[in-house]
Amino acid sequence: MSPSLKVKAPLAWFGPGRLVRHAAVISEGGIITFAGPSAGSPLADERLEVDGFLMPAIADRHVHVRLADPAAVLLGGVAAVRDLAWPADEIFALADASELPSFNGPLIRAAGPMLTGRGGYPTKASWAPPGTGLELDGPEHAARAVNELASRGAGVIKVSLNAEAGPTPSDAELTALVESAHGRGLPVAAHVQGVGQAERAVGAGLDEFAHAPWTERLSEQLLEAAARTMRVVSTLDILSFGDVTPELRTACDNLVRFRAAGGQVVYGTDLGNGAIPPGIDVREALLLHEAVRMSPEEVLTAMTATRLEPGAPADLIALGRDPLEEIDALRDLKLVVRAGRVVSR
Ligand SMILES: [Zn+2]
Repeated sequence: MSPSLKVKAPLAWFGPGRLVRHAAVISEGGIITFAGPSAGSPLADERLEVDGFLMPAIADRHVHVRLADPAAVLLGGVAAVRDLAWPADEIFALADASELPSFNGPLIRAAGPMLTGRGGYPTKASWAPPGTGLELDGPEHAARAVNELASRGAGVIKVSLNAEAGPTPSDAELTALVESAHGRGLPVAAHVQGVGQAERAVGAGLDEFAHAPWTERLSEQLLEAAARTMRVVSTLDILSFGDVTPELRTACDNLVRFRAAGGQVVYGTDLGNGAIPPGIDVREALLLHEAVRMSPEEVLTAMTATRLEPGAPADLIALGRDPLEEIDALRDLKLVVRAGRVVSR
């Protein structure tokens, strides 16, 4: 058994609605066994005191991890990622490897290849090696493809509705793949690009936009329908890399109205595509706060997938300052722990 670890901090955010002063988090075997006030907390083999703000580590819901350095991702405060398109053999093997304590990187969950139409996106995209797109050949094939990906350990199914870059799956193929995915308990995320494709995504019962829709202004009616059944992975920074672009304006406008309709936005960066830094992308967090008007706590909630509580993975970070006062504090990373192992301090 690995030694238990206690991390103490003057201030900790355990998750939405739970801010604790003079907190301690204890983990053993990669799992949190205690999270609460440090006074009277149980003993541990190893102790660590950080002068700062303790919180769950960051989860990035949209990456292409083979186009980045997993060690740098973890060192930058991101302890879990979801890979949303890569050839199956390579990415599922890496996802399996990422579960071991010896893996120097974040926990990886993967979609495998993106399901698409014949010759559709991303089969001709410069970033995508052969096998990143899986070209569908009818509804039965779509259902079979989903079953096979599920059997290989896919955590999500990704579909391409990119009408600007080639053919997309037919409505019959979409229906079949959604039914098959939901039958296996898997959500379906879509790359949606081009006029009318967001409407198709909502109509087909998909679960997620893999990017904030940026190619057209969506109607209130469509956003209300989407808010009831879908969530959005933000990926705003890739639309501008620190500038203001028409695409960024359209995406933020859609997100503000999607949230007003009750929709959920989660943090994701599309790491691997363009100049996204490995680890926490503070520009993405700032856009969520300033352009999408999310409160600091809403931003932290969107950026995390676990709470600091008994039974949760011992994935945590510490910041030098309080991000609930100034979201910019995410730049000031002091400590990274994954599965109870201190990665950096
Ligand atoms: Zn992507």
